[in-house]
Order: sequence, then C-alpha cells, then structure tokens
Amino acid sequence: MSSDGGCTDRRTAADGVADACAPRLARRVVSLGVEAAFEVLGRARALEAQGRDIVHLEAGEPDIATPPHIIEAGVRAMRNGETRYTPSPGTAELRSAVAESLPARGVHAAPENVVITPGSKLLLFHALHALLEPGDDVLVPDPGYPAYASVTAFIGARPIGYPVDAACADGLDVEALATLITPRTRALVLNSPHNPTGTTVGHAALERIAELARRHDLMLISDEIYGRLTFGAEAAESVAALPGMAARTVIVDGFSKAYAMTGWRLGYGVMPVPVARAVAKLVNNSAACTPGFVQAAGVAALRGPQDSVSALVCALRTKRDRIVAGLNALSGVTCPLPGGAFYAFPDVTDALARMDLTAGALAERLLVDHGVACLPGSAFGVGAERRLRFSYATSLASIDTALDRLRPAVGVPQDGPPR
Ligand code: PLP
Repeated sequence: MSSDGGCTDRRTAADGVADACAPRLARRVVSLGVEAAFEVLGRARALEAQGRDIVHLEAGEPDIATPPHIIEAGVRAMRNGETRYTPSPGTAELRSAVAESLPARGVHAAPENVVITPGSKLLLFHALHALLEPGDDVLVPDPGYPAYASVTAFIGARPIGYPVDAACADGLDVEALATLITPRTRALVLNSPHNPTGTTVGHAALERIAELARRHDLMLISDEIYGRLTFGAEAAESVAALPGMAARTVIVDGFSKAYAMTGWRLGYGVMPVPVARAVAKLVNNSAACTPGFVQAAGVAALRGPQDSVSALVCALRTKRDRIVAGLNALSGVTCPLPGGAFYAFPDVTDALARMDLTAGALAERLLVDHGVACLPGSAFGVGAERRLRFSYATSLASIDTALDRLRPAVGVPQDGPPR
C-alpha cells in the first residue's frame, strides 16, 4: 500500500469504483437535478456507437443547420479578430439589436436592460440567483423545464409547482395558481410556449397573472425561448408588454431554437436595470463574457432576413400535425394539439395500465428495444408522470419511422388507426 493509505493507487470514480478518498462534495451539488434530455441523448449515442439505429426525439433542438448568413457573420467576426474578451453584459451592438427586436412582442427597453450570456440557461441561472434568497418560494410550472426547480432548490429557495395543461382554455388555471401564493412567494416562472406541453398562455391568463404579480409584489421570470415558434399568432405575447410589468419581469430568451443555434450557446435576458447590473456581475464571476464572434452571429440573426424562422415554423406545423395524428392513433394514447414549441406530450395512462408499466419504463423500452429516444413526463416534475415527451423538430421521415416503431411497441386500437 502507498504511504497515503492507497489513495494514489486507486482507480477514479469514473471507473465506477467507490472511492473512500473521493473529495467531499457540497450537499447542494449532490442533490442538484440534471436535464434528462442530455442523459438520454448520451445513452442513445452510445447505442448508436454499438451499431443501433436510433430515432432521436429526445433533445429539444431543431435538426436544421444554422442559417448560412448567421454562420458567415460568426466566421467573418472571427477572421476580423473578435476572438478576445468582451464586456460582461454583452457587446453594445448585440444589446442594441436585442432592444430593437423587442417591440415585435410589445416590449420597449434600452440596451442597458439587456444582458447577454452563453446560452439562455445561464441567464436563467443568474437571474434566479440575483432575485432569490434562501427560504423564498417560487412558483414554477409542473410539468416544466427542469432547471426552474433545480436551480431554485440549489439556491435554498422552494420551488412550488403549478399545473400547466394544454386542455385548459388559456393554457393554465390561474385561479388554481393564485391559491399557491403565500407571503413567502417571491417570484413566478412563466414559460409560453411551454416545454414540455407546447401550451401557449393566452392574453386573459397573462393579464390575470400580471394582476397577481402587482398585488403580491412578485417578480416574473418569463421564459420566451419558444416565443417565435407558435402556430397561431405571429409571436407569443410577452407578459412584460402589459402595463407596469416591465419593471417586475425578467425575460429569458436566446437564439438556440428559432435560429437553430443550440451549439453556439447564445442567450439573453431583458430586465430592470438594477437586476441587469446584478446579473452582469454574476456573468463577470462565472463565464466572464460571451464570445464576441458568437455575439456577432447573434446580431446577424436578429437584424438579417427572418425567412428561415418562418420556414422553420411552417415545417414544424406539418411535423406537429403528423406526429399528433400518429400518436392519437395508438391504443391508450391521447395527444393534445400543441400551440407552439416543438414537443408532443401525449397522455399514455391507458397504454401504461394495459402494459403494467411506468412512463419511465416505457421510455426505456422504446429506446432499448425499439430504437426511439424520448423522455418520460417524470423528467419534467411530478405533474405529468403518465406522459411521454417527443421532440418533433426532426425530419418527417424520422417521425414516420418513430411512429412505425411505436405501433408494435404500444399497439393500435382493434379497429385500426383512424383514417
Ligand atoms: N428554456 C427552455 C424552456 C428550454 O426548453 C431550453 C432548452 O431546451 C432553455 C431555456 C435553454 O436554452 P439555451 O440554453 O440553449 O439557450
């Protein structure tokens, strides 16, 4: 044995060996949740490396390339030497371009209200850190994007889930949500269009939420990352556009979805100036800044032609209709028609009962036995445990292949799929 009691001889935890000498980790990190989509994507890729054919309906990203004019702008900026540190809140040009883009959603703000981050997820992380104290309550959608609850709990605040349901007239039951507000409630996270249900929150519900925010002195975190990807209105409505709401709203947005830029890592937030200064201070302490050439690509995305966004929405509508019809033709599966984003979120209660499975076990079976990668509703909270999430931002051929594989896995009604 070596003089340090064998530590230097040990294999690392990466070898899957329990290591008595492993450093003690902070409890808040041990209990920190992770986004299941990345884990399932990793497992799907590992199966592909073994020669398996997998249809990817797990990750929330468009399967198209970033539009060429945006790539060109990024490459040109790199060639022009925009490869150095930039100001922590973002470049003046991108902050201005974001501010100029906001009137399209009814919001008027100055560049000083805008902070740029490497991905909107980091903006969300920092905004919650800037606003919350341990012990605060935060209302988060359940089901919902997992980072809302995991980051809230990481701070020592308490995520309180409120239901979001595509079956509700306005996307959510605001009266039910109102009953969850207590003197400890500090903030409310809104996400419209919503991941994972694709629900868009209607005007009446937004007005009622704004009223609640004013009455109970709440901050709103409005995650509008799917705001351009709606099948009804031109763009989803922002709660920050309602009277007095810009002063109590942090808009979270980014380039990943509408401009197919997930790997570029480019997000932004729009918020009152004191919050923007606090968030920029956090960026200064974490990422330091967002790469200049990536921000130059963002300027091209916002100021350049928008036809790629319209084409994406048009293609997504066809894909949505195809997958929703195919899912509804399966026995024991009911899939509401989503109004935005690119997720189908069917209720598989009856199919699970027939097969005596949980949604997690069904998702696992679909991946391992049938080569279809998707996520169980439980990855998004406790409010949707008998659902599956399929990301349909893929090719129609992949959607058809997935449906072909789902039919024997889940079954079709005795009298066959409706025509
Ligand atoms: N918000 C929601 C609701 C999302 O679904 C995602 C990504 O899936 C993000 C934020 C983060 O996006 P990004 O960090 O790529 O900008």
